[in-house]
Amino acid sequence: MSSEPTIPVDALKCIRTLRLKVKSDAYTWLNAAATEVNQVWNFANETSAKAARPFAGPPKWLSGYDLDKLTAGATDCFGRIGSDTIQRVNAEFATRRRQFKKVKLRWRASRGSKRALGWIPFKAVQLKRKEKSLRFSGKAFRVFEQHRLLGLKWKSGCFAQDAVGDWWLCLPVETSVARTAAPQDIVGLDLGLKDTATTSDGEKLEAGHFYRNIEQRIAQAQRRGHRRQAKRLHRRAARRRKDALHKFSRQIVNRYQQIIVGDVSSQKLVKTRMAKSVLDAGWGMLKAQLQYKGEYAGRCVQIVSERNTTRACSNCGALTGPVGLDMLAVRAWVCSGCGGAHDRDVNAAKNLMLAARCSPSVSGNSPRCQTRRRARHLACARYGNAR
Ligand SMILES: [Zn+2]
Repeated sequence: MSSEPTIPVDALKCIRTLRLKVKSDAYTWLNAAATEVNQVWNFANETSAKAARPFAGPPKWLSGYDLDKLTAGATDCFGRIGSDTIQRVNAEFATRRRQFKKVKLRWRASRGSKRALGWIPFKAVQLKRKEKSLRFSGKAFRVFEQHRLLGLKWKSGCFAQDAVGDWWLCLPVETSVARTAAPQDIVGLDLGLKDTATTSDGEKLEAGHFYRNIEQRIAQAQRRGHRRQAKRLHRRAARRRKDALHKFSRQIVNRYQQIIVGDVSSQKLVKTRMAKSVLDAGWGMLKAQLQYKGEYAGRCVQIVSERNTTRACSNCGALTGPVGLDMLAVRAWVCSGCGGAHDRDVNAAKNLMLAARCSPSVSGNSPRCQTRRRARHLACARYGNAR
């Protein structure tokens, strides 16, 4: 699939998060600072839980500002983080507590098997550029690809650790995106397991099997007790998947004005025996990418019900297509009504496109409540042996 040249129409400001790897000489300092952040978080957690359920007197729901007052002067107890970071931790804690509507959140453990991944938030002013390095809280840092920060103004960001133990600098920066006119009108996208996505024009994003390809090596590393190696392999699979999906979604967004996606729910299928394949396909990530990239580029991204899209003929609309468990292997079929020959997935993608033209879209997965058993039955009927 080659990308056609696009014509810039106007520019739009948007926030993107740059993720730069921190050079390893700062890891010791960052690990120690993360312990201090955890202490602030746990203090906020305990204090607000006590305030919400006091032994005597009326309960109080502490806000981020209340916690700021309670932690005033705490900087003296910490060797690395400053008051700005403490305030950011309090604000984040208050937001998450409101979001999950809980009196108490999870404790952030600094060691042991339930250790929380390191996280150090900061305000924009705390991070300064100084010649070849960055300065934060009195410590000089070097990051890979620092030239990407040239001439950019950043907002409040954080240092974050991944499962392997590497540290990343996450910086939201404002960039301008050129809005372009798409050369083509409309496309339907059918998501599946054999091919991750099939367009109504017949193009396919083949399933990469990023995880399946190295599953054995991961198992081997785990058996031998090489936990870090196993985590590295997991990270490699995740990165390859993300990269493939980014490339595909960019091409789709550059090419089409209206993008129609089926409402396959990976949440439901994850409970079935296809879980690994479903997670490996990354449908959720692809949908999210199409949505935000489409929004910035001024595209219309619709999510429609994919009911009967495999069964119906996209020419005449008769329900003559493959249905049921024993027809899963059928990848191509001929309509007995009009005699048109169809590829299973391309036909489904065309049907999605037609569905979007004549019916209002549903947003996201339909809220109909299905029992787990029904979900599994549906899943088997559609994807049974498709892995
Ligand atoms: Zn037909």
